[in-house]
Amino acid sequence: MPLLPAQLRNALATVIETDIGKDIVTAGMVKDLQCNGADISIEIQLSSPDSPLRERIREKIEAALRLAGQEHGEDVGSINVAFSADMRSANEKVREEKNPLPNVKKIIAVGAGKGGVGKSTIATLLAVGLAKQGAKVGLLDGDIYGPSMTTMLGLHRLESKSEDNLLLPFEVHGIKAMTIGKLVEPDRALIWRGPRAHSAFSQLATQTNWGELDYLLVDLPPGTGDVPLSLAQLLPLSGAVIVCTPQVVAQDDARRAVRMFEQLGVPILGLVENMSYFVADDGKEYDIFGRGGGQQMASAMNIDFLGGIPIHPDMRIAADTGEPLKNWEINETMSHAFDDVCKNLAGAASLGAPDRPTLSIH
Ligand code: ADP
Repeated sequence: MPLLPAQLRNALATVIETDIGKDIVTAGMVKDLQCNGADISIEIQLSSPDSPLRERIREKIEAALRLAGQEHGEDVGSINVAFSADMRSANEKVREEKNPLPNVKKIIAVGAGKGGVGKSTIATLLAVGLAKQGAKVGLLDGDIYGPSMTTMLGLHRLESKSEDNLLLPFEVHGIKAMTIGKLVEPDRALIWRGPRAHSAFSQLATQTNWGELDYLLVDLPPGTGDVPLSLAQLLPLSGAVIVCTPQVVAQDDARRAVRMFEQLGVPILGLVENMSYFVADDGKEYDIFGRGGGQQMASAMNIDFLGGIPIHPDMRIAADTGEPLKNWEINETMSHAFDDVCKNLAGAASLGAPDRPTLSIH
């Protein structure tokens, strides 16, 4: 007997040989799968016609199918692996083919190479700051492993509501917001993985009634995991903002995040350096972590520098008490810094990211 379709698919799902660390089934690379008796023909789609991965993928597929044959005691005859190429990246495809949120003008991801750099804080500041400047803004807490928007936006006491099978976003601080933190127990959110993470994120993003928006900012989990890939496959992104801290040791992580977005076909709109410097009450500025590291990295990578956000204890308090607008009351240097970053982002989003050579991924 030949292998059953589900056994074939399971075998192919053990082949992890992609640019993005996913198996070839999850990454959508298996375009055709035909069986003629025990003979199997497969079409694999690559992002480039002359990808050096071809032979490796062919060998791994053969090995996986033969192993599955042995395990299930079934015959595996000839295995023919053909390759085709779709030069478009995940996000180009979604930009060209389907848009589940046609009423949202610009969708912008906020990412970081690692946790704790203030990514959620900056996503919140950008959302509230763009709304202060007159835009209609939504903020999606896509950090499904560690959602912080319930606290940062003070949503604890608000009730989740839905209408016509769509979630209604929370309308707070001049923006619309949605977070998984209001839908499940916080400790359950932390254990979601793989396909469930994709489905949780996808529901939050596409089954929320955002209405008309100028910007939807998406706060991503730190690092280069499943959610950025889901986002790039689901929603047409105008681009991504990378948040980093100034230390040289933090820059490798930020570079990895930049590279990940490039591989997904998401333009980088710019970099924000958080915890750049400290402004004392007398207005004097102190560099704590080496102000300017982010700017140097941005210029070395040829991406826009959107600005530096100071470090200040009142920012932590505004986040803990869920009052993001209080950030603008800390002092003038800081409120100017927030406004500048928001204006620079609006400018970068309206112009689109500059063309620049993408980094090699092999
Ligand atoms: P991430 O999303 O990168 O994990 P958060 O935005 O949750 O990071 O920030 C981590 C902690 O640091 C939070 O308590 C936040 O209030 C605090 N924080 C972030 N940026 C600043 C800043 N510029 N000044 C003071 N505290 C900050």
